[in-house]
Amino acid sequence: MAGENDDERPRKPATRLVHVGRDKVITGPFVNPPVQHVSTVLFDTMDEMRAPKGYSYGRRGNPTTNALTAAIAELEGAAGALVCPSGLSAASVALLAAANAGDRVLMVDTVYGPVRHLAASVLARLDIETVFFDPAIGAGIAALMTPNTTVIYAEAPGSLTFEMLDLPAMAEVAHAAGATVVFDNSWATPLGFRPLEHGADIVVMSATKYLVGHSDAIVGTLAANERLWPRLLEAHGSLGTHVGPDDVFLTLRGIRTLGVRLERHSASATKVAHWLRRRPEVARVLYPPLPDDRGHALWARDMNGACGLFGVVFNGWSNARADAFVESLALFAIGASWGGFESLAIVANPAGTRTATTWTEGPLVRLHVGLEDPDDLIADLDLGFAAAAATG
Ligand SMILES: *Cc1c(COP(=O)(O)O)cnc(C)c1O
Repeated sequence: MAGENDDERPRKPATRLVHVGRDKVITGPFVNPPVQHVSTVLFDTMDEMRAPKGYSYGRRGNPTTNALTAAIAELEGAAGALVCPSGLSAASVALLAAANAGDRVLMVDTVYGPVRHLAASVLARLDIETVFFDPAIGAGIAALMTPNTTVIYAEAPGSLTFEMLDLPAMAEVAHAAGATVVFDNSWATPLGFRPLEHGADIVVMSATKYLVGHSDAIVGTLAANERLWPRLLEAHGSLGTHVGPDDVFLTLRGIRTLGVRLERHSASATKVAHWLRRRPEVARVLYPPLPDDRGHALWARDMNGACGLFGVVFNGWSNARADAFVESLALFAIGASWGGFESLAIVANPAGTRTATTWTEGPLVRLHVGLEDPDDLIADLDLGFAAAAATG
């Protein structure tokens, strides 16, 4: 579906965020699309119902979802896009679309935890084998390819540990073997990275994070290139995937301010990260935009944006000390998810969850830097270090 100003003139990202998905056919004379609550679609004749020209049934889309899918497709440069009831649902639809019984899926070891569980449970029951790989593998992924390898599932930066990976190098290997590349783009969003232009075939996003942006809805999105679009659409429809219009509307609303929010999240995260790097308690800050981050070269080559989420590793801290640090913070709340306006902190120890890589650096703290003033956040962390020092 065409955007409001879908002409030939190139548009900068900030401009596109304002205009994507605002087709007058959907919005009428208004700025925003209606929040269309719909199940039944009515027809004048049986012939029209048998061959619908537009909407056919509520589960198959309505004006609100079409506005969002048009926006996502344009932002990702995709042949088509879909909405799912969560980011995890988007990942499962992508995997069920791309893999067949008896296939092998190669999955990055730093994948979002619940996707790893999906592989070990539902995919394993469908006789889909998952082999995990080190995010640093690059073109070396060729060594893991077998004749039945049909999917590479990647995510960057990695969940909790923020490793970058060489998507174009891996995609080249995958495509030479006819395999599909799925990429989780929740961290960078299409503002910071357009995976389809770097070799991905399907893009998964947890819109719950920065697209919704206000911690008040769970939504996922999918986008695909021409080759994978029919298969993705078929899986999404066959599985009955549908999202109510209120949450779709919240996602569309979030997209309008995504640019300014991400600018602020990134700038504040950079300031906080630089401050943390100078602390004697800190061993490493895991944030690819930092010049001394291990993934910085790949980040600088492929991405043109970041967000407010990063990790911190400490010098010999116990789990108890990391817990005390996080629990003493006043502005960083303890809680899952990220991407909202508020700052969050959690303690994680990836040592027990990885199989293709080894984590030996102890507990890490994952911070989401929200839209508060970064100076206040730094003062909060400063008090946190004092509280942590008082713990054994
Ligand atoms: C949160 C998250 C998901 C899952 O998204 P939900 O909307 O919470 O289901 C998927 N991938 C990544 C990288 C995430 O951080």
